[in-house]
Amino acid sequence: MTQLTAVRGDITQLDVDAIVNAANESLLGGSGVDGAIHRAAGPELLAACRAIGGCPTGAARITPGFALPARFVIHTVGPVWRGGKHQEPALLASCYRESLALAHDHALRSIAFPAISTGNYGFPLALATRIAVDTVASSLAPDDPLQRVTFCCFSDHDLAVYERELAQRAAS
Ligand code: ADP
Repeated sequence: MTQLTAVRGDITQLDVDAIVNAANESLLGGSGVDGAIHRAAGPELLAACRAIGGCPTGAARITPGFALPARFVIHTVGPVWRGGKHQEPALLASCYRESLALAHDHALRSIAFPAISTGNYGFPLALATRIAVDTVASSLAPDDPLQRVTFCCFSDHDLAVYERELAQRAAS
């Protein structure tokens, strides 16, 4: 069975098969985790992303990890929070599902997600965390080859919210 865990850290340092990037539709880099991933992966990542030619919100694309410890980067485009009535929850869930589908296609055994859309894109953290944990848990088969899903939190506060959500899920 796949293990779901939350850690506090810098996702660019994680030694996993794939890290997920909270990208924008251009896939040409940006601020926050996107900028950190591009800096750590090196310029080849930007060239690979440019060749893909963009990605719609809610979808995901995969590239090599280049200079990162992770073998792959899965780029997904979270929704910008615009009050909650513009399909934001469904689009965020789609980011997690599509990222896991790519992990499955590439027979990956470990993947790490950042808290997609909760930074510059303004998605409320508690709701985003519930969607992240629920969508990942419900997308995995009991015999899924994916062994480990890590939610990589950038602050102690984010980590506490994820840990609470994971504990509630384990108890239910
Ligand atoms: P978005 O535009 O999707 O909101 P951001 O990058 O602004 O994406 O923020 C998403 C989350 O990623 C936030 O919780 C932010 O604190 C976090 N973050 C920023 N840098 C890193 C990093 N190096 N590793 C892990 N998480 C990070």
